[in-house]
Amino acid sequence: MSLQYPEWIWHNGRIKPWAEATTHVMSHALHYGSSVFEGIRCYQTANGPAIFRLTDHNKRLFASAKIYDMPMPYSLEQINQACREVIVANGNATDYLRPVAYRGLGGFGLAADTPTEVAVATWRMGQYLGASVVESGIDACVSSWQRFAPNTIPAGAKAGGNYLSGQLVAREARRLGFGEGIALAATGLLSEGAGENLFLVFDGVLHTTPVSAALLNGITRNSIITLARDAGIAVVERDLPREYLYLCDELFMCGTAAEITPIRSVDGRQVGEGRPGPVTRRIQELFFGLFDGRTPDRYGWLEPL
Ligand code: PMP
Repeated sequence: MSLQYPEWIWHNGRIKPWAEATTHVMSHALHYGSSVFEGIRCYQTANGPAIFRLTDHNKRLFASAKIYDMPMPYSLEQINQACREVIVANGNATDYLRPVAYRGLGGFGLAADTPTEVAVATWRMGQYLGASVVESGIDACVSSWQRFAPNTIPAGAKAGGNYLSGQLVAREARRLGFGEGIALAATGLLSEGAGENLFLVFDGVLHTTPVSAALLNGITRNSIITLARDAGIAVVERDLPREYLYLCDELFMCGTAAEITPIRSVDGRQVGEGRPGPVTRRIQELFFGLFDGRTPDRYGWLEPL
């Protein structure tokens, strides 16, 4: 992804020029992966700019910090406010927010009590998996890399170190010419994409892998489950074996960056008709409808700037 840097960033309590948001090379996080972060989208809606589930994302940021016993020097409301401020500072021309909290400089060793630093960046992301894939879909593969076992690294934390696994999966998939990679859990059952949750459709019913399958409990996943059930589409969370990827009628990935991306083939096997199917299209309509007003915002997910 080529990144055009915006002018301003929020770092350790204030808005500053992008280039000034620096940290020491001996910061704990750089050596040990000890950061927690979020990815959040800002949409231009019928009622002006809105950050999608800002509070839920930042609650997950605090939950990730709690798992790692990382003290947070700001309140939830302060981080929410930093997110709003950095978008406004950059002229409301960005669509993605990245709050990150990390162990900074202070002592040596794994258990060192380093101060927590916090930054909130924003930039223009557009479509994460490439132009127009939300309409056309991608070809995916099952990775030769598995997700970490649940008693090793907690998948429920969105921590920087977890993304070593994601990088292996995503880079292998790209190298082999696929749009994205899907990982199995240590159990051998389906887990999730490199940075996305999975939904399979069988006979009009949505099936998604459970949080016990070493995945991040995605906010987009939760939004889809809620929107689908409200629209009378059944959803089941269940363990799924790899071959179900080949046998389902429809398949899509979801996440803040990927939004709702249909998958048209896995490991060279066509999924369903090889194009986005009716349930996928309906879920896309319901989800994107939140931003143009076709879907009522029943749960207050659109948080104004
Ligand atoms: N799984 C992983 C590993 C991710 O990085 C993401 C993106 N945050 C997701 C799932 C989707 O989560 P969300 O919908 O909250 O963005």
